[in-house]
Amino acid sequence: MSANPFLEPSFEIRWSQLRPELIEPAIAAALARAQSAIDAIAARDLAALTYDHTFLALERATEELNVAWGKVAHLQSVADSPPVREAHNRMLPPVSAFYAKIPLNAELWRRLKTFAGSPAAAELRGIHRRFLEETVADFRQAGADLSPEQRARLEALQSELAQLTQKYAENVLDATNAWQLIVEDEASLRGVPAHARAAARQNAGRKGYGSSEKPAWRFTLQAPSQEAVMTYAEDENLRRWMWSAIVAVGSLEPYANAGLIQRILARRAEKAALLGRPHFADLVLERRMAKNGARALSFIEDLQLRAQAAFARECRELEEFKAQQTVGPAGPLKAWEVGYWAERFRQARYAFDEEALRPYFPMERVIAGMFELAHRVFGLRIAERPTSCRSLLADDSTRAAEGSRASTLLQDGQRGDPVEVWYPEVKFYDMHDARGRHVGSFYADWHPREAKRGGAWMNYLITGGPQPDGTRAPHLGVICGNLTPPVDGRPALLTHREAETIFHEFGHLLHHLLGEVEIKSLNGVNVAWDFVELPSQIMENWCWERESLDLFARHHETGAPIPAELFAKMKAAKNFRAACAIMRQVQLAKMDLLLHLRTGEFLEGDIEARARAVVADAMIPTEPPARTIVKRFTHVFADPVGYASGYYSYKWAEVLDADAFTRFRREGLFNPQVGAEFVEHILSRGNSAEPMELYRRFMGREPDLNALLTRCGLRTSPD
Ligand SMILES: [Zn+2]
Repeated sequence: MSANPFLEPSFEIRWSQLRPELIEPAIAAALARAQSAIDAIAARDLAALTYDHTFLALERATEELNVAWGKVAHLQSVADSPPVREAHNRMLPPVSAFYAKIPLNAELWRRLKTFAGSPAAAELRGIHRRFLEETVADFRQAGADLSPEQRARLEALQSELAQLTQKYAENVLDATNAWQLIVEDEASLRGVPAHARAAARQNAGRKGYGSSEKPAWRFTLQAPSQEAVMTYAEDENLRRWMWSAIVAVGSLEPYANAGLIQRILARRAEKAALLGRPHFADLVLERRMAKNGARALSFIEDLQLRAQAAFARECRELEEFKAQQTVGPAGPLKAWEVGYWAERFRQARYAFDEEALRPYFPMERVIAGMFELAHRVFGLRIAERPTSCRSLLADDSTRAAEGSRASTLLQDGQRGDPVEVWYPEVKFYDMHDARGRHVGSFYADWHPREAKRGGAWMNYLITGGPQPDGTRAPHLGVICGNLTPPVDGRPALLTHREAETIFHEFGHLLHHLLGEVEIKSLNGVNVAWDFVELPSQIMENWCWERESLDLFARHHETGAPIPAELFAKMKAAKNFRAACAIMRQVQLAKMDLLLHLRTGEFLEGDIEARARAVVADAMIPTEPPARTIVKRFTHVFADPVGYASGYYSYKWAEVLDADAFTRFRREGLFNPQVGAEFVEHILSRGNSAEPMELYRRFMGREPDLNALLTRCGLRTSPD
């Protein structure tokens, strides 16, 4: 093995030695070794193939590269710097090209296919059978079986799709940025919150509008700016201008997307046909839990049907509320009134300030409570290890300031030698299961820094699990976020949503760390897209139950639990206009699926009119009618695949987590037996079987979407 630390397989990663200038040589060496391992498989004697030197050899071929590239990508996420970014961006094209070329390697495919059809392959069982089937499906889906001419056409389609979707995304971005609203009369900003006004004034100043004597406010179509106006501005003209601009994004030259949509849909349909599928939705979904477009569509239509009555009632209630407030006749709202009146209605019904919950979510307590929950439910013991930061990645001034904190981490009965981390406040934990096995370890990096990307995520650095010799190696993962930091010696006080985020990422982490899958590429979160959020989202449920909240949500000064009245408001506010929220997602998911199932209907004529016709019954009735987002639907059109045919997954995953959680609600929130079954059938299994099969083993049946409707208050639970 090389002395390059990026290529060291060690569990204890020496972050301070992962210097940017070592990235390129490490990745280049790993790429070369991976390529020669693949060449060796492709050169095997066709008459003497074994499972070990075909499929398993392919799995091993990329392992070193996977781990090394994982470290590079991780560094770029948590300790970005110009040299790290430069090295990452320089190596990204060869790395992507390497992975993309594997299924198109004809000699390699011939060996895999030959072995897959042999009597020895028919003998494979369990995880090895699954691995063989999944690999063959990966190759077929990527076009391995096509003739050279067809493959050339597929490659041409891919590159055309990349360009068309790139252009669509640019049009949305450019049209969004091309519009502004300059307000010079402060009176017309009545209702707009102070922080949004301040941001608009600062924005105006930066663009050269207004002065200290004659101030101006600049609003844009970026989400925080437009939402502040559409939700709060009392001035109807302001909202009407803003609405007209929002719905024009992607509609007007030079940023018009209608033609691009039709070309993207046509290319996707051709790609599906080339690969022998009736339409693009089936191509995308055949290996997801939904299996095909028709099933995903019937799921969404079923949800629509069941939410329909509550949706109609919520629309009517809002119309009545407005009529009563304005002393006018009830009738459909104008398209630019919905957000505004919904917010007034919410305030009238629930005077609930989310900030009031913060004192009950001190971060340390939330995390300690979550570990206690993991102990009660899953039998896990999680212990913090002392850390040290020698990293060159944290800049000098921060290290000097944080140095004292780093050294004080070595205290309080923590075991073992310090573990090196990339930044002083990063924590490290060992996780043991009920049998006392060290199942894995993880880093936690929770607060924002300039050199760290936004959002929250889980990632894995090492995949352990069962080894061919019968032992088991621990897994190594990382959970990150950008949560409220501690200020002036006060503990970090989180919002309820932030507490949920910690639980969510911890769920993804458990999926990796508890994995008992011998084939690494099938471990943990390497599962179908519409299944991967089950372990994470189910954890969020414990943030909404009185009994579990009392474990970790305690006032940071008094230790008191959340008062009953505040808890009731928090629950009620969550379900306010729940059917409208569901119907919004139904509308988008249905439009996405129909565009890719009945593509022919959308290739001519006015795309907006045709898209609207198929989802109008899922839209809030307004005057003038609201528009669909088809011309600015970046989830679906900004990437060759992205969320195309997959938007339904948001709701699908919610159904899974709400439904699976009913077992804990019924049999006990801390029931260790249910917890053990969840580990046994879901968390430890990765992609070792069909997700629906895993789900059935845990629930004893297929998912039932009533659980979601019950959870958001649209249905009374029978139990
Ligand atoms: Zn997630």
